This record gives sequence, C-alpha cells and structure tokens, in this order.
Amino acid sequence: MAFELPDLSYAYDALEPNIDARTMEIHHSKHHNGYTTNLNNAITDTPHASQTIEEILKGLDLNNKALRNNGGGFYNHRLFWAIMSPDGGGTPSGDLASAINNTFGSFDDFKNEFAKASATQFGSGWAWLCVQSDGSLKICATANQDNPLMPGIGCGGTPILGIDVWEHAYYLNYQNRRPDYIQAFFNVINWGKVSELYKKGV
Ligand code: MN
Repeated sequence: MAFELPDLSYAYDALEPNIDARTMEIHHSKHHNGYTTNLNNAITDTPHASQTIEEILKGLDLNNKALRNNGGGFYNHRLFWAIMSPDGGGTPSGDLASAINNTFGSFDDFKNEFAKASATQFGSGWAWLCVQSDGSLKICATANQDNPLMPGIGCGGTPILGIDVWEHAYYLNYQNRRPDYIQAFFNVINWGKVSELYKKGV
C-alpha cells in the first residue's frame, strides 16, 4: 500500500495571517508531496512496503538516507498539518495542561522552552513536544527530517506537537525572522488534537 499525501482539513489561506496561503500551498503540494512520492519509491519492493509509517521510523536503519529523509518528511508534515487549526491558539486543558504544568512549571515556562528549542535548532529541522511512557513530557529538537520515533536519535518519546523550522516553512512571509514565525505558530496550535495525541501516547 502506497502512502498518500493527506488532505488538509482547512484551506491554504485559513491560517493567515500567522502562516500565509502561498507558503502553505507550496509546503503541502510541493514539499510534502515530494517526501510522499520519494518515500513510496524508497519502499517499493522492500519489506517496508507492508509497514505503517510508525513501524518504518521505529525500525529505521539511520544509514538508509532515502528512507530516513522521506519517511521522516512524510510523518513530520502529516503531524504538523494535524496539530494546526484556524480555530487554534490559546492554552491546553485537562490532563495535558496538568502534564505541562507538572513538567515545566507553567504554560508560559513550557512556551518559552519550546520557542527556545525551535529558535536555536541550527539550520533545518524540527522542535518537538514528546510524551514519555510515564506520562511526562519532553521538549527536544532534531535536524533535517529526523523524528523522535527513530532509534538512537536522542529525542525519546512519541511526538504530540512539532514545529517545522526549515526556511521553506516561513521564509516567504518572515524571511530571517524565525522567532516571529514561532510566536505566530502558537496562535494556530490545535490543542484539542495535541491532547488527543497525548492520551494515545501515554
Ligand atoms: Mn517542511
């Protein structure tokens, strides 16, 4: 079964002014589409063809660059679209809010630490909020299209929130102002979806 580029649940212009329509269109229809096509090419006629993307990432040979880059790119962007919404922003509630407060002290402390990890990831990559098996949370960042599910990546846990800090994610609108893009990202986070992922990951 080939992987398919997932549809967005909102229009390309729905996240404006936080993320502009042109960036969303290129990011989804060109970049994510490219990772999806190249992932399918990398698994054709291999045992990976019958695996889920999570199984592929968890069992990944990091030396398999085609699978590492495109499997990561496919998974990372699918998560990214899902945890954003035109009705997003604000703060989480329920168990996730408690876990954030328990781990980081407060929502503002969490936000500062996540923004710092996002801003200081050198070059292309992602920053993540991951849930550990004991329910605690962890912030980390990875290079390129690496993902916390990959073995030995040094960023353990299951990602429930991620921000793409590749320049293609923000350059048209923000140019070199990555910190402004990170602040705008907080206006579109779909905390309901992140809470759902937290409950599944604990
Ligand atoms: Mn991207």
